[in-house]
Amino acid sequence: MKSHAKAVVIGGGVVGCSVLYHLAKSGWTDIMLIERSELTSGSSWHAAGGFHTLNGDPNVAKLQAYTVQLYKEIEEISGQSCSLHLTGGVMMADTPERMDFLRLAHAKGRYLGMDTELITPSEAKAMFPLMDETNFVGAMWDPVEGHLDPSGTTHAYAKAARKLGAEIVLRNRVVELTQEVDGTWNVVTEQGTVKAEHVVNCGGLWAREIGRMVGVELPVLAMEHMYLLTEPMPEVEEFNKSTGREMIGVLDFKGEIYTRQERNGILLGTYEKACKPWSPVSTPWDFGHELLQPDIDRIAPSLEIGFKHFPGIEKAGIKQIINGPFTFALDGNPLVGPVQGLTNFWCACAVMAGFSQGGGVGLALSNWMVHGDPGFDVWGMDVARFGEWATLRYTNAKVRENYSRRFSIRFPNEELPAARPAQTTPLYDTMLANNAVMGDSWGLETPLWFAPRGSEPKDVVSFHRSNDFGAISEEVRATREKVGVTEIANFAKYEVSGPGAEDFLNRLMTNRMPKTGRIVLTPMLNEFGRLIGDFTIAKAGPRGGEERFMIWGSSAAQKYHMRWFEKHLPKDGSIRIHRFDQTLVGLSIAGPKSRDLLQRLVDVDISTKAFRFMDFREMAVGGAPCMVNRITYTGDLGYEIWMAPAYQRLVYKAIKEAGEEFGLVDFGMRALLSMRLEKNFPTWFRELRPIYGPFEGSMDRFIKLEKNDFIGREAAAKEQAEGPKLRRVSFIVDAADADVMGDEPIWAKVGGKDYGTVEKPHGYGAPRFDAGGKEVRGSNAAEGASAVRGIVDGDWRVVGWVTSGGYAHYVEKSMAQGYVPAALAENESAGLFEIEILGQRRPARINVEPPFDPSGEKMRT
Ligand SMILES: Cc1cc2nc3c(=O)[nH]c(=O)nc-3n(C[C@H](O)[C@H](O)[C@H](O)COP(=O)(O)OP(=O)(O)OC[C@H]3O[C@@H](n4cnc5c(N)ncnc54)[C@H](O)[C@@H]3O)c2cc1C
Repeated sequence: MKSHAKAVVIGGGVVGCSVLYHLAKSGWTDIMLIERSELTSGSSWHAAGGFHTLNGDPNVAKLQAYTVQLYKEIEEISGQSCSLHLTGGVMMADTPERMDFLRLAHAKGRYLGMDTELITPSEAKAMFPLMDETNFVGAMWDPVEGHLDPSGTTHAYAKAARKLGAEIVLRNRVVELTQEVDGTWNVVTEQGTVKAEHVVNCGGLWAREIGRMVGVELPVLAMEHMYLLTEPMPEVEEFNKSTGREMIGVLDFKGEIYTRQERNGILLGTYEKACKPWSPVSTPWDFGHELLQPDIDRIAPSLEIGFKHFPGIEKAGIKQIINGPFTFALDGNPLVGPVQGLTNFWCACAVMAGFSQGGGVGLALSNWMVHGDPGFDVWGMDVARFGEWATLRYTNAKVRENYSRRFSIRFPNEELPAARPAQTTPLYDTMLANNAVMGDSWGLETPLWFAPRGSEPKDVVSFHRSNDFGAISEEVRATREKVGVTEIANFAKYEVSGPGAEDFLNRLMTNRMPKTGRIVLTPMLNEFGRLIGDFTIAKAGPRGGEERFMIWGSSAAQKYHMRWFEKHLPKDGSIRIHRFDQTLVGLSIAGPKSRDLLQRLVDVDISTKAFRFMDFREMAVGGAPCMVNRITYTGDLGYEIWMAPAYQRLVYKAIKEAGEEFGLVDFGMRALLSMRLEKNFPTWFRELRPIYGPFEGSMDRFIKLEKNDFIGREAAAKEQAEGPKLRRVSFIVDAADADVMGDEPIWAKVGGKDYGTVEKPHGYGAPRFDAGGKEVRGSNAAEGASAVRGIVDGDWRVVGWVTSGGYAHYVEKSMAQGYVPAALAENESAGLFEIEILGQRRPARINVEPPFDPSGEKMRT
C-alpha cells in the first residue's frame, strides 16, 4: 500500500467504487480506495438491484437518469457485465390524488427530457399480468427502469477505476482520521497510515462512524429492509415465452411495494409502516456478509395489500426472504459534498438507492473535488442541507417517518410530524394560543397561518386550494390595508466583522456594500457566474473601530453559505463570521400603519426622512435592544426587527398592545409568500439556484460589474454581453381551484418561430420533438390526461418551467414565476402562454411589472 495519495476513498460499496471511477476519469489517478473487507461488504451485496429515474427532486431525478446511462460505459471499460435488464416500469395509482401526483411527475419530466407516459390500468396489466387492475385508477410508464446485478455493477466500477490508474486496497479498515496544520489528512489504517489531501467518506453502513472520527454526527441511519423471492412461476415463464419480453417493474403506492421479475419468479419488496432501524446508535465493525432475521409479521400488512393488488403472486410459494440493512438520510436522498467546518473532507453516503443514484453521486462529487463545483444543481443531496438539529434521535424519528412513507404522496401543503417540535422560539406557545398552524422551517417551528378562532388549526392536505385559503386572504388584506406582524426567526443571520470586512464582502457579493446605516440586496455567485446566494446586507456602526456588517439570507442555506464564506476567509483570521442561528430572532411588521405602530414603541424619530427605506438602525423597541431594517418581504411599508430571544416576548407584547388601535393582525409565512408573489419577488431555492446566471434570474440591478473584481464577475460579464438565454418572469395564470406548485411546464404558442433549445442549465435535457416539430410521445394517455394528448400540434411547445407560485391574495390572482427563453420574457400578449396545472393547460400571461404597487411607492413612503 502506498503511503501518499491525492485522495483516499473510504469504502468499497457501489458508491465508493463510483466515486473512485469518476475521480480517475476526471484525471486524478493518484487515488486509492480502502475497504475494510471485500468490495460490496456493506449493503451493496444484498441489494435488490432495482433502478429507476423518478425522484421527488427533478435535479436528483436527472442524476438518476445519468446513472442508468452510465452502465454501458463501465461495462465496456471494465469488461465486467452489470447484467442490466432495462425492462421499464410502471407506478400504479389507486386513488385520484395519487393519479394527480403522477400527472405532476409526468409534467416535470417534460423539460427534463424524460419519456414517461400516463397509461391505463389495463395497459399496465398487459405488461405485468399478475396484477388485478381493478384496484387502480391509472399509472405512469417509465421506460428507464430495470434491475441489475449489484455485485457485478460494483466490480465493474472498481475494475474501470483500476484500469484508469486507481488503486484499491482490500481487507484494511480505516481506524482513525487526523488532520495536520497544513491540511494533510492522516488516514490511519490497519496496514499503516496514508497521507492524503482529500478524504471521502463512502462508508455506507459505517458512514456515521467515519463521521465521528472527524467529530461530525452525520444524519444517517440504517433501516432493516425485506424483500421476498418466489419459487419459479409458470405465469412468468408463459409471459416471457409468449411476448419474448421480461415482465416490467411495478411500484404500488398504496402498499409501499415494489415488485418485478427475478429469474423465473417474482421479487417483491416492502417499505412497511412498522419499520425498524438497525444498529441505531453505532454499527458493529465486525458485521460482515450477513443477513438479518426476516420478520414476516412486520411486513404482513403490506403483503396483504400486495397479494390483493397482485393476486398472481399470492399463489406462488416463497423461496426466500432477504432482510438486510441500508442507510437513509432524513429525506431519503444522499448526503454528498464537502462537510462544513472541515477542509477536504467529503461525503458520499446515505445513498439509499445506490443503483439508481450511485453514478450521479460519483459524477457530482468528483466534479466538486476536481473542479470546485458539482456542475449540477445538487442541493437535493447536499450534505449541508441539514443543521445541527439533525441529532441522532431526530434522525431516527425522521428516517423512520420517511421510510414508512417511501412511496407516499407528499402534498404541497403537507407538514410531516415526526421529531417535532424540535426548535421553538419564545413565542411558540403564544402562537399556538393564537391558533397558528405551525410548519417546520429548517428544524424551527414557524407559524404558517392562523386558523379562525374555534376551528381546529390543521391543514387539509391537497393539491388544490385548501382550508387555509380564506384565513390567508384575511391576513393579507388586513396587512395590506392596515398592519400585520409575523415571526421571521427562520431567516439566516450572520455578522461579518474585522478590518477589511467590506473588502471581503465586496469580493464575495455582486452589489456594492452599503454605507453605515444602510442596506443593500445582493446576490452571490460562484466562479462560474452562477447564483449561489441572495442576501440582505446592512452596515452596522463600527465596534471597537472594526467594520461590522449584518447579513440575512435563507435559513436552509446556512451551512451551505457558511461553507462558502469559510472557504474564502483570509487565512490570517482577521475577519470573523458569526452565524447567529436561533440566538437572534425576529418579528416583521408591515402595512401602511406599520410606521405609526413602530413610532409608539421607539424613542427616536422614524419619519420617512429620518428613517428611510433601506435604512438600518440599532434602537430600543418596546424597551428591548433591537436592530431594525426598514424593509419587508411583503413589498409594503414595513420593518424587520431583530432581537435576542430573551426579548422576543417583550417586543411582541408591545407590538400587539400598541397595534390594537391600528387593527393589527398576526400573519404567517404563507401570507408573506403570497404577498411577495404580487411583488414579483424571487425566493432562494426556487427562483434563484446555482443553475441560473444572475441575468437569467433577472437580478440585473444588483449586479455591479464595474465595482470591483468579485467572484464570478467575468462569467457574469460574459452572460450580460452575450445576453442571457433564459429569463425569470412572473405570470398571472387563469387557474381554477389549484395553483402552481413548482416544476410545472410552461407552454408557448410559438408556431414556426425558433427560440433556440430550451434546456434546464447544466446538462438538463430539453423536451424532445421529431423533425416536424411534433413532440415525441405516446398516445395512450390515461383518463384525465387529454391535455397531454392535445398538444401535439406543432404550434405549442414547452418553453420553460415554473419555479414557484400560488395565489396572490391581495390582487386576487393566481401567479407563477419561472424561466422562459429571453426572447419571450417581455411578451405580455394574451394567448401566448399556458401553464400545465395537474395535467390541465391553463392560459397564462407574463406580467413584467408587479401587480401590487408597481412603482414601489408604498414601500418608500
Ligand atoms: C434488502 C435491500 C434491498 C435493496 N434494494 C435496492 C435496490 O433495489 N436498488 C437500489 O438502488 N438499492 C437497493 N438497496 C440499497 C443499496 O444496497 C444501497 O444504496 C447501496 O448498497 C449503498 O452503497 P454504499 O457504497 O453507500 O454503502 P455500502 O454498500 O454499505 O458500502 C460501504 C463500504 O464501506 C466499507 N467501510 C465502512 N467503513 C470502513 C472503514 N472504516 N474502513 C474501510 N472500509 C470501510 C464497508 O465495508 C462497505 O463495503 C437495497 C438494500 C437492501 C439492504
